[in-house]
Amino acid sequence: MEHLTPDIERLRQIAADVSSDVLASNAEVVDQGGQWPERSLRALAEAGLMGLHVPEHLGGHGKGLLALAVVTEELGRHCSSTAMCFGMHSVATKVVASKATPFHEERFLRPIAEGRHITTLALSEPGTGSFFFIPRTKFAVEGNDVVLDGEKSFVTSGGHADSYVLSAVPPGFELDPGTFTCFVVEGSMPGLKWQQEWQGFGMRGNSSRGLRLDRVRIPEANRLGSEGDQIWYVFEVVAPYFIIGMSGVYLGIAQAALDTVTAHLKERSHVHTGEQLSAVPILAHQVAEMWIRVERARQLTRHAARLGDAGDPQAPLALFAAKADVAEMVTAVTQMAMMLGGGRNYSKDGTLARLMRDAQAAHIMSPTTQILKTWLGRSLLGLPPLGA
Ligand SMILES: Cc1cc2nc3c(=O)[nH]c(=O)nc-3n(C[C@H](O)[C@H](O)[C@H](O)COP(=O)(O)OP(=O)(O)OC[C@H]3O[C@@H](n4cnc5c(N)ncnc54)[C@H](O)[C@@H]3O)c2cc1C
Repeated sequence: MEHLTPDIERLRQIAADVSSDVLASNAEVVDQGGQWPERSLRALAEAGLMGLHVPEHLGGHGKGLLALAVVTEELGRHCSSTAMCFGMHSVATKVVASKATPFHEERFLRPIAEGRHITTLALSEPGTGSFFFIPRTKFAVEGNDVVLDGEKSFVTSGGHADSYVLSAVPPGFELDPGTFTCFVVEGSMPGLKWQQEWQGFGMRGNSSRGLRLDRVRIPEANRLGSEGDQIWYVFEVVAPYFIIGMSGVYLGIAQAALDTVTAHLKERSHVHTGEQLSAVPILAHQVAEMWIRVERARQLTRHAARLGDAGDPQAPLALFAAKADVAEMVTAVTQMAMMLGGGRNYSKDGTLARLMRDAQAAHIMSPTTQILKTWLGRSLLGLPPLGA
């Protein structure tokens, strides 16, 4: 199997240990109760993982895309909701870290590295849906403050995170892709109104809720980067980190489905043959097909992550392809697992049912599979990814 560098292997091992000690035993209750996985996230914070993308001089690990792929896969194998909340926290952390001022470093990044602060992304809006890079939330500068008005949808860790990395435009720029500005909004700010509780089909612990911003006043110092240049964030930070973080989570789900059926086939035998199902050639063949699909998607994801970390100009192609492929793989592999798991695994609250439900979000979470294939196809045809 693949060799990781010692520092990434160490992070993978920490994630694996916390996952088997805490995440695995919480996953069922998180799913069934639709509970935000506070205990699991606290355990990750105590293990020092929340600062994966915080620079080392601020106490973090200073890691890039490959580490994110490896860590989120390990977490996704045990609790997809925790892995997704961790992934969103990591993408938002990277957005803050990318153009951090000394104020952002002390206010957000150091507490994140110390496990005292969870952040997340609030980009999507009801009006523009999958086109998360076209916000209609408005900001107006008033003295040294910025006042925000608008609506966000599907904010993971909504109502629980300490801060929200949020996009907004000045009046008059509502439908202009990429001219938005990013701000960090602290969860305690007056005027943040959370909509109804998240009742997802899968990813049930995510707390991915709607948010109304009603004249939310924040210091202008909470702005990230310079005003209106945020298409840079979309393609340099948000998309790569989102894509790799989510690809890791869904790879973990697929691996968990494979682990579940492998255990079933090794343990289950019929009295009339006395043989374990693992000895049946057609079943071994199907397990092989699942493994090939998972491993191929994993290698594409890690290849894309390595290109992204190296700043290779070909990285966007591999990144767009990776999440589209992982989404197709995980929905297919969880379905194959359900076929091989037999009636014993066809249980409403069973592990495979949870994995299958969680897997369905892979296509619809931005960048969606259709949008990724549009970006990939346009890039291959020599066109800019965004366009008519
Ligand atoms: C579990 C979960 C967690 C999430 N967490 C976050 C989060 O933390 N932060 C955040 O900002 N967002 C988050 N989102 C939002 C997510 O990233 C998407 O923005 C959202 O799911 C898009 O949903 P929609 O209903 O608006 O889709 P719609 O825009 O209604 O799209 C429906 C379908 O049509 C396709 N489609 C639409 N227009 C086109 C087109 N022109 N060409 C091709 N295909 C098209 C889409 O690809 C999609 O498959 C989350 C979503 C989910 C489900």
